[in-house]
Amino acid sequence: MGVVVQKFGGSSVASVALMKQCAQRVLAARRGGHRVVVVVSAMGDTTDDLIGLAGQTGASPDRRELDQLLATGEQASTALMAMVLHAEGIPALSLTGWQAGISTDGAHSKATITGVDSTRLSAELELGKVPVVAGFQGRTAGDEITTLGRGGSDTTAVALAASLAGRCDIYKDVEGVYTADPRLVPGARRRERVTYDEMLEAASLGSQVLHPRAVELGKKFGVPIRVLHSHIDGLGTLIVADDPSMESRVVSSVVLKRGVGRIVLRELPNAPGVQARVFEPIAAVNVCVDDIIQEEAAAPGRVNLTFTVDRKDLESVRPAVERLCAELGGAAVRVDTGLCTVSAVGAGMRSGVGVASTMFRALAQSGLVIENVTTSEIRVSCVLREEAGEYALRAVHEAFGLGHPDSELRTARMMLGTSTSGV
Ligand code: ASP
Ligand code: MG
Repeated sequence: MGVVVQKFGGSSVASVALMKQCAQRVLAARRGGHRVVVVVSAMGDTTDDLIGLAGQTGASPDRRELDQLLATGEQASTALMAMVLHAEGIPALSLTGWQAGISTDGAHSKATITGVDSTRLSAELELGKVPVVAGFQGRTAGDEITTLGRGGSDTTAVALAASLAGRCDIYKDVEGVYTADPRLVPGARRRERVTYDEMLEAASLGSQVLHPRAVELGKKFGVPIRVLHSHIDGLGTLIVADDPSMESRVVSSVVLKRGVGRIVLRELPNAPGVQARVFEPIAAVNVCVDDIIQEEAAAPGRVNLTFTVDRKDLESVRPAVERLCAELGGAAVRVDTGLCTVSAVGAGMRSGVGVASTMFRALAQSGLVIENVTTSEIRVSCVLREEAGEYALRAVHEAFGLGHPDSELRTARMMLGTSTSGV
């Protein structure tokens, strides 16, 4: 039988009592004939607490020492979880990231997994054991301990599943991936299946269901990933490359991203290299730019250049663009805070038509002004005033019929123009 990597998130292992419930998942998988590898996060808010402690030592704690510290959170979870499994009669053993063969580059606090040597894991599985591996951490070629970035235990789990040619079950405190955040949209529904690409788009829009690199790895190595609730039984959501039954599904989820800031450079003299001069200093301070729009300005040879960044990054970006505009002469900078984006995401958009118009109609009927629009192959995003975000999210969710059990059919009909129901 195949290998299943079961990953339990921080809130699922926040106490020994909760770990005992997780152990039932391990038992069930073993009874089903699977060989099981467990990956755990640090218990509850441990990582935040450790970061808090480090912060008390000074303004910017050494990144190497911070990794040494944070890695202990997951290590404590593994040993406790192994003891809990022992009490259930399961031959488990805890392993740190490096004992499990996880190698990374040397970028402390945001390391990338460079390889997995699964010799030890395979040997333990062969002996009938359940390895309990510390998520979120690895070791560099120089034997330094690294961590993979917040939420990185998902990535550990998918990397191990890839190296063992197994599947990956991610247990969380939600029942799967939803058509929208159920806390904001009461009618949101759990999706049965979602594609890797849809998950990646949603992650880049701020949905925090899975660590984005876990999804990237899953896609690259074709690892079937399932997101499940750790303590409530259910089918969860399966993340797959493609699903023929989804062909008709044009929009699968809507996502709200708050805290968007926008910078508009007006009347910028357009010449070779001017765009590079705008964005190079932004890249240099490690700020991620979401959308870039360039249009002709009123004066000949001049353009307006608009881009969005996280609002918290505005202040680190602003001085560089203001300096540049002053150097170039005649250009002006406008900074907008208080924006959000509402996005419709769906793999079926590649071939479907009418998504943007449906979305625009829904926002128009709600009396909302769209400030900008950007698209990718499988996404349409509208920039709106932040106050309008939640309302817009619900309106767009409703417009695509996502709250209804037959939503896929309704959306498909609508796209084919055969709907008379006035969706
Ligand atoms: N404990 C780490 C965090 O809280 C890693 C993880 O939970 O995946 O970010
Ligand atoms: Mg955590």
